[in-house]
Amino acid sequence: MRYATFIHDGSQKVGTVSADGLSVTPLALNPAEAELGVLALVIRQVQGQALPAPAGAPMALAQVRLVAPVPRPRRNIFCVGRNYQAHAKELAGSIFKGNNQPTDSWPIVFTKVPETVVGPFDNVQLPTGISEQIDYESELAIVIGQGGRNIRREDAMAHVWGYTVVNDVTARDVQTRHAQWHLGKSFDTFCPMGPWVVTADQLDGRDTRVRGWVNGELRQDASTQDMIFDIPTLIETCSRGITLLPGDVIATGTPAGVGMGMTPPAYLKAGDVVRIEIDGVGIIENRFV
Ligand code: MG
Repeated sequence: MRYATFIHDGSQKVGTVSADGLSVTPLALNPAEAELGVLALVIRQVQGQALPAPAGAPMALAQVRLVAPVPRPRRNIFCVGRNYQAHAKELAGSIFKGNNQPTDSWPIVFTKVPETVVGPFDNVQLPTGISEQIDYESELAIVIGQGGRNIRREDAMAHVWGYTVVNDVTARDVQTRHAQWHLGKSFDTFCPMGPWVVTADQLDGRDTRVRGWVNGELRQDASTQDMIFDIPTLIETCSRGITLLPGDVIATGTPAGVGMGMTPPAYLKAGDVVRIEIDGVGIIENRFV
């Protein structure tokens, strides 16, 4: 199933997306649940409650405004750095300097604040005067279902509720200025997400294709099979001594082809449009302004 969060007639709703991707059928949620978006469905399911019934006729997707499926994650988004070998190589002289050994046994994990999240087709604001090196990162993101601590690798896939697409937008100059990446990853609007969540029974995130375009030019193209640390390992790692909660989002890292990896580096400027597609999930497309 694909579940979307959307605005119709001024109010936020959650619905199921039709097989042809052209319409969405709203679900019967109370207003507090609707504010949580798809997170409300995750919570219901892990609490053993029935998923809500349809509430009305299907609406054309063209007639609604999609927002991020989880418009405001309940806490920071977990993000993985340096998770594709070719990307580790392209930034070996900058971001991953001193940390680019293929044998490194632990993933880099950092977070973005929840307020970075914007919708799948919303604008991203360039932080003018603060950073001149804005970059895109096309990524598959996991939405956690049943939470847990010390989740074992072999049990991890049972904790995946679904998948969505994110752009882990990054200010490279700010990222490299500080030992930790939090500031350079957390500017307002720096996490476009969507277009919906695909449930884990419909997609195996361990084997899908991630692509990213800038102004129609294909820049990133990789299989999630090429991850250095696979999804079960990421869940095991993030839950070591930390209780993962239903609805937690883990962005799994970006393939090669980011702007900083180009010669010379090609950063985003006003008017640029970044489109990300993940096979089996969908497309997000955001203009930088
Ligand atoms: Mg990233």
